[in-house]
Amino acid sequence: MSCMPVCDRCSENSIYLRRSSGQRFCREHFVEYFEKKVKKTVLKERMIERGEKTGVALSGGKDSTTVLKILTKMGFEVCAILIDEGIGGYREKTLKDAKELCKTLEVRLHVVSFKEAFGHTLDEIKKNAPENACTYCGVFRRMLLNKKAGQLGLDKLATGHNLDDETQAILMNYVRADLNRLIRLGMSSDKMGMVKRIKPLKEMPEKEVALFTHLKGLDVSFDECPYQISFRSGIRDFINRLEDENPGIKFSILRGYQKIFPYISKHELQKLKRCERCGGPSSQKTCKTCKLLDTIKARDKGRDK
Ligand code: SF4
Repeated sequence: MSCMPVCDRCSENSIYLRRSSGQRFCREHFVEYFEKKVKKTVLKERMIERGEKTGVALSGGKDSTTVLKILTKMGFEVCAILIDEGIGGYREKTLKDAKELCKTLEVRLHVVSFKEAFGHTLDEIKKNAPENACTYCGVFRRMLLNKKAGQLGLDKLATGHNLDDETQAILMNYVRADLNRLIRLGMSSDKMGMVKRIKPLKEMPEKEVALFTHLKGLDVSFDECPYQISFRSGIRDFINRLEDENPGIKFSILRGYQKIFPYISKHELQKLKRCERCGGPSSQKTCKTCKLLDTIKARDKGRDK
């Protein structure tokens, strides 16, 4: 007689133990639980209203692929936007996967590249920049996604942020005492002059998203960006250690943040206006994108002399 633990919902062998709740799932019931929970988050929080057009910020990785797959299955009108930063050895594969996925799902894919928009790939920018690549990439990606979503007339922009991403961002901002970013994390992006962002996976731990893509046979890349900063990896390892010892701590971090948000959000944020050069949202006269582009131009000129 087999002593394999069985699924809580049927007599099949269990393949996953959700330690925070003690539930055991077989393959079929894990997929059912996962899809149901994501759908519930989308519907309960009214992330998308019927008739609205939604773009998915697609990277070809497991998270955004899962978001696109589930929103399509739910019958929403969706398209995908992929930002090609120009990261050699990393972006080519994810771009190929994204194209294939969109073809299978019959979803329109819009690709926007740093090279076309700014005249440089991220690799080229990084070659001459002492700063971390993320300094440029984060600002440029956000700007291009927002611009494209506006041009396409989208009502919502869905991103693949999962529970782990959310808890890492919360803790990173706590540790840095970056109150502005901590507040912005919980604020609706349309109040910041951007197309409203939604995060359908924010309640789903990363390992559950990975298991879902594996069980569904989705061809996704698990490669990490070569420029990923080590500070985030350190925070990630720290939270994962805590989670191992205290199952459910990631949910506690998220719930704790949601509880304090109404208090910290009373703090006056720097008022957003329009950048006087490009018209994008900005807390200063000139937005960060324009400032960073100036820096790149100045370095290019310095090199040409
Ligand atoms: Fe861009 Fe890579 Fe940094 Fe993410 S980790 S912001 S993709 S450079």
